[in-house]
Amino acid sequence: MASDTIFGRMLRGEIPCDEVYSDEKCLAFRDIQPQAPVHVLVIPRKALESLDAAVAEDAELLGHLLLVAAKVARQQGLTDFRTVINSGAKAGQTVFHLHVHVIGGRLLTWPPG
Ligand code: 5GP
Repeated sequence: MASDTIFGRMLRGEIPCDEVYSDEKCLAFRDIQPQAPVHVLVIPRKALESLDAAVAEDAELLGHLLLVAAKVARQQGLTDFRTVINSGAKAGQTVFHLHVHVIGGRLLTWPPG
């Protein structure tokens, strides 16, 4: 379950995180293994395992996460940035609590691996 993940423990304050933004719906913090000078994760407080597990009633929350991702990017001084949501193990998801990666501060190439 999403609430049992390391991110769930951060949301409950059981383990610390390097927080950059917080509101009633989400939390944003620095990735422990950054892939760029700025690498922040935006997670919903709601225990959602993945984007694939989201339903119609999550539409507003998903939009909020993207708006927060852009806000965090601006706060971190980025004008160009990438947002990534890995959904499922074969797509690279390793923590099964939905999260939006916000990555920037260097040249980002395409396609990703
Ligand atoms: P995923 O591979 O699921 O898309 O992304 C999970 C991300 O969570 C990875 O970039 C990984 O570095 C990050 N991560 C895993 N454990 C922790 C942790 O304990 N603290 C923080 N801040 N990030 C973590």
